[in-house]
Amino acid sequence: MNPNRLLVIDDEPDICEFIKDAAEGTGFEVTATSDPDDFRSSYRDISPTVIILDLQIPDADGVELLRYLAEDQCGAGILLISGVDSRVLSTARRLGASRGLNMLGSLQKPIMLDDLDATLRQAMKREYSVTERDLKDAIDNGHLCLHYQPKVSLRSDSNSQIDGAEALVRWQHPQHDLLMPDEFIPLAEESGLISALTDFVLEEAIKQMRLWRDDGLPMSVAVNLAPQLLHQMDLPDRVGEMLKSHDMKGDNLILEITETAAMTDTTRTMDILTRFRIKDIGLSIDDFGTGYSSFVQLYRMPFSELKIDKSFVLDMHQDEEAEIIVRSIANLGHNLGLSLCAEGVETRESLDLLRSFGCEKMQGYLVSRPLEADALGDFVADWDPQTV
Ligand code: C2E
Ligand code: CA
Repeated sequence: MNPNRLLVIDDEPDICEFIKDAAEGTGFEVTATSDPDDFRSSYRDISPTVIILDLQIPDADGVELLRYLAEDQCGAGILLISGVDSRVLSTARRLGASRGLNMLGSLQKPIMLDDLDATLRQAMKREYSVTERDLKDAIDNGHLCLHYQPKVSLRSDSNSQIDGAEALVRWQHPQHDLLMPDEFIPLAEESGLISALTDFVLEEAIKQMRLWRDDGLPMSVAVNLAPQLLHQMDLPDRVGEMLKSHDMKGDNLILEITETAAMTDTTRTMDILTRFRIKDIGLSIDDFGTGYSSFVQLYRMPFSELKIDKSFVLDMHQDEEAEIIVRSIANLGHNLGLSLCAEGVETRESLDLLRSFGCEKMQGYLVSRPLEADALGDFVADWDPQTV
């Protein structure tokens, strides 16, 4: 059985045919239909790994089918397409996600072949899966590496600086391509290997920061901390030792902690976070807006930065509600004395809006994708402050 099975529903046969051709070219086995009943029976027969759903179909609508899939606890990746306006598409996407569906995104008609192709390629299941043993070997044998995405400080209209970067882990698998974190961080978290992985990331990031400093590029580096690590009472001291061994001060390092992680087991978490802050290490609330923190907890935790989740930032230039959410988060962050960083900035329109909200930092493909350390050094050295 082909591990990549796609089910498409669209009332326009031409579009079904277009998607079928593109997806078969990518390696999918494709079933296409225009009829909702046929969709349901094909769904049960082929158990698709990816579903492309047109929101406007006669005799049923896409929202109804999303509900059907959610009730079945469908695990397939779902891509929405429609000719309706982009706000309806993004609302439907959020609705699916809030029902626990794995929403891959949405494409506005007319569909561009490149966009469809890129989304399908990302959604392809690899024909192998990584094991705990492989991951342990990768950590022990130095097959993990870091890419760095620049964080731009939006000082004024014409003087933006790159003085920091987020370290993002990758796995250079000897037999396969470069594996992205989403393909192995969940395994690391389940198996407990996340602790060794994070020690590697911290050590490597601090070492790199020192190399940049020695090259005359003072850069801070942000490292992601998984929720489980906030139970290790000795973590602040371990990180302090690593900084000391590379002669680096705490204020060069930022730890990014997801909103949800920071709000669980609050006494222990508060103890650990406070000790980081005493060492001058920056603390950032990551993916803000996706969890459910109370303002009181947020206020009590010693954060220095708030990162606005990319799901809102990606849509804000075309979705008024996403823009309102970003503006509200920016106000909240500023009122709590936090510095603001927006991630997922892909368009100049979004950047202009963020600037008007007083956002201090941004990260996103508009400036750069994550880069290898040397490439980032060159990128920063060639940076023109007027670029953004
Ligand atoms: P994150 O912390 O939210 O990191 C940002 C992710 O968004 C990165 O993906 C980055 O490449 C991507 N991104 C940045 N700008 C844009 C943009 O303009 N558009 C879009 N579409 N995406 C953008 P990446 O590198 O695949 O990392 C995914 C996640 O893996 C991270 O999400 C983080 O949660 C996790 N991760 C990465 N490295 C580590 C690590 O060392 N430890 C732990 N615990 N988690 C890590
Ligand atoms: Ca992050």
